[in-house]
Order: sequence, then structure tokens, then C-alpha cells
Amino acid sequence: MYRLTGKVQHYVWGGRDYLPWLLGKGNAHHQPYAEYWMGVHSGGHTRVWLNDHAHTGLPDLIRSEPRRYLGSEVLQKFGDLPFLLKVLDVKSMLSIQVHPTKEAAKLGFDAENTAGVPLDSLHRNFKDANHKPEIMVALGDFWLLHGFLPEDELLNRLESTPELEFLIPIFKSGGYHGLYRQVMELSEEEVDKIIAPLARRVYPGYQAGNWSKSQPEFWVGRILEVTAPVFRGMDRGIFSIYFFNIVSLKEGQAIFQGPGLPHAYLEGQNIELMSNSDNVLRGGLTPKHIDVPELMKHIRFEATHPKVLDGIQEGAALKYICPIPDFTIRRVSLRKGEEYSWSDPGPQISIQVSGDLTWNDEMKCLKGSSVWVNPNEKCVIKALEDSILFLASVP
Ligand SMILES: [Zn+2]
Repeated sequence: MYRLTGKVQHYVWGGRDYLPWLLGKGNAHHQPYAEYWMGVHSGGHTRVWLNDHAHTGLPDLIRSEPRRYLGSEVLQKFGDLPFLLKVLDVKSMLSIQVHPTKEAAKLGFDAENTAGVPLDSLHRNFKDANHKPEIMVALGDFWLLHGFLPEDELLNRLESTPELEFLIPIFKSGGYHGLYRQVMELSEEEVDKIIAPLARRVYPGYQAGNWSKSQPEFWVGRILEVTAPVFRGMDRGIFSIYFFNIVSLKEGQAIFQGPGLPHAYLEGQNIELMSNSDNVLRGGLTPKHIDVPELMKHIRFEATHPKVLDGIQEGAALKYICPIPDFTIRRVSLRKGEEYSWSDPGPQISIQVSGDLTWNDEMKCLKGSSVWVNPNEKCVIKALEDSILFLASVP
């Protein structure tokens, strides 16, 4: 096993306090700390500490002896580490997004390469040829948008929102696809004409604290608060807040998002585990490029009944089952003095979100530590204080 140092991403929506606290760093320049990545993705260089002084890149370590570091099964099946582990601190909401299937990602990536779109172009849709299913486990109260509301609930939302009533016949005749296409193809002026009155109506209530987080109006108010309430240049993503499930998770609860499921994180901290990919198609709440025709190809236009996962208790671990072969995650919670032991035939990465631990009686790890575990390595962790650790592996 080796200690890892992941990569911090300073995206603007990140909080200023949580990740610096977790990683034991200062934040003198008050920068946003949005994500902490651990894996082999080219966008998140992760260092492996070979001893106290020498380090190498995680991809270099794996390439030096793939069979030793991945195990034969993972090497044969994936050729590389199939997952990417992250810690997120969502202060202001993220863009509405959807991730492609593996087949669609491969086609899209090849097509953009053939067309000569540079990898770092702002208009590039596909950063790699992989899918990006993801599971997230809440580290505290967490809020997100997750898939289209079931039909009756969506109709209720439209009926109780005067500015959106005109969408009812469109939804009734064209279904989810017709409804979504309608708002995504509106001109900027038309979006303003519909959304500005809505925003003007709900903002005073937001300021007065009248809306709860389970109501779309709260999140519309939040957007206005962050961008300053100017009531023009409104984001068409606001429609989606009314179309999607607003889901709240408690600490330790998880949710899985497969290809085609539109979603957006609204607020909170989480552990996120995904396939090793950065393929994101955006649908609003973002200043970034939106390719509407491409986005429409990847969304699954159907009702989503959110499945919140409480995890399966196995001793000190809560195990979250994901319906894909790329990854699985465990949350190990130990009281001071307790131990947890395991051995796994594939590679693993851990991240410790609270407490101090020792590994195999020799390596002491503080909160925020990340560890690489080799296939078949026997591990015993012992809690020096109450501790929580997440362990990502291949099922
Ligand atoms: Zn996502």
C-alpha cells in the first residue's frame, strides 16, 4: 500500500472551507476548493509516495507493472484503473448534466477527433471514449436534481406555476422529449420573457425565507442571490429545476446515476465514485458550452423514481451496490480502538473523511489521507479515534 496525494480542482462553485479542513491545508487566498480527485485521469494527476521522500505518478506506477498493481482480472477487463474517486464540496449549484453510454462516448470521441476538434476546445463534447456512471455518498445533508419527475408530479408543478402553465399541453402531447425540446430550443429573449416574471415573483419569498429546499422556488432564489437579482439573461436551466426530482440525502445515504439520467448537484459535500471519464453534456445553469442537439441524443426521456441507497451493513462497513462492473464503494465507520480487516483481489483507493487510523500497525494516517492498496494485500486498519473511511474497489 502507498499513500496518495490527489489533485484539488478549484472550480468556482466550490466551497472555501471543507476541503482545506479535510486535507489539513490553509486557504489564505480564499480560493474555492471544489473537488479532490484520486485516480489515473489525465485531468487529475495523483501522486504515489514510494517512501517519505520519493513519489511518482499513479499512472506511471501502474504502467510499470500493470499485473501487479491492477491484478489479472482488472487488467484483462479494463486495461487500467477503471474508476475515479472524488470528494466534492458544492457551495453553489453545478450545471445540469448528463453522461453518455460507453458506445455513444466512443462514437462521439472518435467523431470529434476525426473532425479535428482540439481536446481542450471549449466546444468539445467528448474528453475521452468512456462512459461515466457515478455513485455519490452524502457526507452530510446533500441536495440534488435527479431525473425527470413522474408524470403526475410534473403536471402538478406546471399547474401550480403560472408562468409555466403554457407547457402543460406541450407535455401532454409531446411527453418528456417534447417538453424538454421546447424549452431548450427557445431563444434567449423567449427564456427571459418567461423566466424573468417567475424570478421576480419568487425572489421576495426567497429573501423572506418562505421557500423550503424541497421546492424549486428556493433554488431559483439561490441562483438569483448568487448572480445578483437582475432578472435578465436568465438561465434556461431554471426550467429543469421545475421538471426534475429534488432529492435530499442524509449522511451515509447514496444515489447512483447511470447514462442518460439528467442531474445537477445543488448543495453539500459528498464522496463521488465514477468510471474513469470526464464526459459531461450540459443542459443549463452554466456559462459553459451547451450543444442542444448533442445533449438531446443522450438524455433518457422518461420518469425517474429516485432510489436512495442506505447501503448494506457488513460488520463496520456499509456497502453500496452499483449496477455496473467498474466500481463499488464501502463506508467503514469505526469507534476509537476498533479494527477492520479485508483483502480484495483488485486495486483499491481509500479516503479518510474523519479521525486518525493506523494501517497494518505501521502507517499512521490522519483525516484527509488517501491510500492505494495493491490487489490481494491484507489490510487491517485500527481507529485511533472515531473514524470514517471510504474504500473504492472493483466488484
Ligand atoms: Zn454527473
